Parts: sequence; structure tokens; C-alpha cells
Amino acid sequence: MRPAVRPGRLVLLGHPVAHSLSPRMQDAALRAAGIDLRYEALDVPPQLLGYTLDELQATDAAGNVTIPHKREVMARCGWLSEDAALAGAVNTFWWKDGTLCGDNTDIEGFRLAAEALLGGVPRDARVALLGAGGAAAAVMLAVSRWPGVRVRIGNRSPAGAEALARRHPAIAESSGELATAIRGDTTLVVNATPIGMDGVSLPVAVEMLPPAASVLDLVYREGETPWVRAARDAGHPAADGLTMLVAQGALAFERWLGFAPDRSAMWAALGRPQPG
Ligand code: NAP
Repeated sequence: MRPAVRPGRLVLLGHPVAHSLSPRMQDAALRAAGIDLRYEALDVPPQLLGYTLDELQATDAAGNVTIPHKREVMARCGWLSEDAALAGAVNTFWWKDGTLCGDNTDIEGFRLAAEALLGGVPRDARVALLGAGGAAAAVMLAVSRWPGVRVRIGNRSPAGAEALARRHPAIAESSGELATAIRGDTTLVVNATPIGMDGVSLPVAVEMLPPAASVLDLVYREGETPWVRAARDAGHPAADGLTMLVAQGALAFERWLGFAPDRSAMWAALGRPQPG
């Protein structure tokens, strides 16, 4: 299900949105494709979401959705992709023949980022998932496609970890607080909390990582996150949230426009070369 016509506007709906790197990245992809559109970040308070969507429909807009609107936009969609329905959240939308359509490219974006870090689809991965919010829910759906995977979820509020684990009883269990998710057999640690956005804090001490563990931080900022730097200094394969950001953004671009964007232009706009 694609937009019937090329979108007249591309927007990001969130509150706040000023910190987002998506406009920089998507504008570079649009320029590289020779498309005369700009990607606009719209700061939309919750009480104005319905009005904003009505206005956007009138201009054949399409776009992305971020905190706090992912669930509300999903509830308004007349068509959902399988991933959006599974996640209960929409991060990519467009209209077709008057129907609001929603997809969730965070799941596939995470899978691509994790498999790039791990060198392919892992077997029998032992994942420590830090956080239990929307991003953690997407991580759970992505890793549930890996053969033999087991996940331990740690969260600031243990009730959140328990609720997320209950949605995946065959592969997940709650460990309670953040750091308790990491055990001696952990092969991948994922930070799905905002810890590290301040450029200083670490979700867990690097000394807690087993020697063979890889680190995937969903947080991103100018330069790299402190946790990724510390993990790499200690010899762990590590990547920050930019890989997932580019992957989910490229998939969204494809949904709106029907072809894949130039990922190297997207990386260049973020100030980094495209990873191997
Ligand atoms: P969310 O739904 O609001 O969930 C936030 C999670 O982080 C919750 O588990 C929350 O725990 C925990 N948390 C918040 N502040 C914390 C703190 N100070 N200490 C410990 N735990 C804390 O947000 P989200 O959408 O999952 O996003 C989480 C992070 O992932 C954000 O930094 C976001 O930018 C990043 N993200 C990156 C990408 C990407 O493409 N790279 C995509 C999506 C999200 P409680 O349950 O206790 O509140």
C-alpha cells in the first residue's frame, strides 16, 4: 500500500522535535534524488494532533511520527502494516485514496542495525534489553525473529519490564532493574533508554559487560554516545543509534516515494561515512 500520488509535503510529527536529525538526513536523500521537497519537523502538542492530521491530508502529506504520537496516529489509521499492528505504534504514515496508512519501520530498522553490528543473523543470541518503552517494544519484535534467541529485560520501573516480557513469554523474562538484565552469557546489550543523551551518563558500567558482548546503543548524538565510546575502548563491538536512524528513515522514504534513497548521502548529512 503506497501513496497514490507523490506526497505534497513530508513532515515529522512529535513533541518536542527540535533535537531530531531526521530533517537533515531526509533532506539530503531528497536532494540526492532530485526531488523538490523539504522534510519539515512539526512540533505538535497532543491536543493539536487531530487538527494537524486533517490539514496534512488536504495537502497529500506523508511523514514520520515520534514521541508522544505513535500510538494515537496508529489508532487513527484505516490501514496498518503487519509490523505497525504488532507494535501497536506507527512511525511512518501516508494517505491513499482518503485512507490514513501506518507502518512501523523501527522494527526492521533495528534488525538491520543489529545484524550489521553482529555480522548477520545471530543464532541463540542472549540479549540484555535495557528499557521497556516504545523502542524496546520494537527491539523485542525484531529479535523475536532470530532463531534460539532469549531476552532479559531490565527497566527503571520493573513493572514495565514485566509487562513487556509478558507480551513475549516464549523468549523473554523480566530481570527487574536495568543492570540485572546482564548475565555472564549475554551476547548483545541494547540500550533502549534515553540515558547517554546528556553526553555523560552510562546506562550500565562497562565493567559489567561479559567479554564477548556487543553493544548497541539506540541513543545518538553529535559525535558518539559515552557508552559506545567506553564499550569500544574496552574492546567490545559497539554502535550508536545512527545506524538504526538511517535504516528506519531509508525504509520510510521508500514507503513514501517507491524507491530506495541514497544512504551514503544520508550518512554524509549526519557527518559520518556510510559504514562498510
Ligand atoms: P519511551 O517509550 O518514552 O521509553 C523510555 C524508556 O526509557 C522507558 O523504559 C523508561 O523507563 C526508560 N527511561 C527513561 N528515562 C530514564 C532514566 N533517566 N533512567 C532510566 N531509565 C529511563 O521512549 P522510546 O521511544 O522507547 O525511546 C528510548 C530511547 O531510544 C530514546 O533515547 C530515543 O531517542 C531512542 N530511540 C532511537 C531510535 C533510533 O532510530 N536510533 C529509535 C527510537 C528510539 P520507565 O518505564 O521507568 O519510565
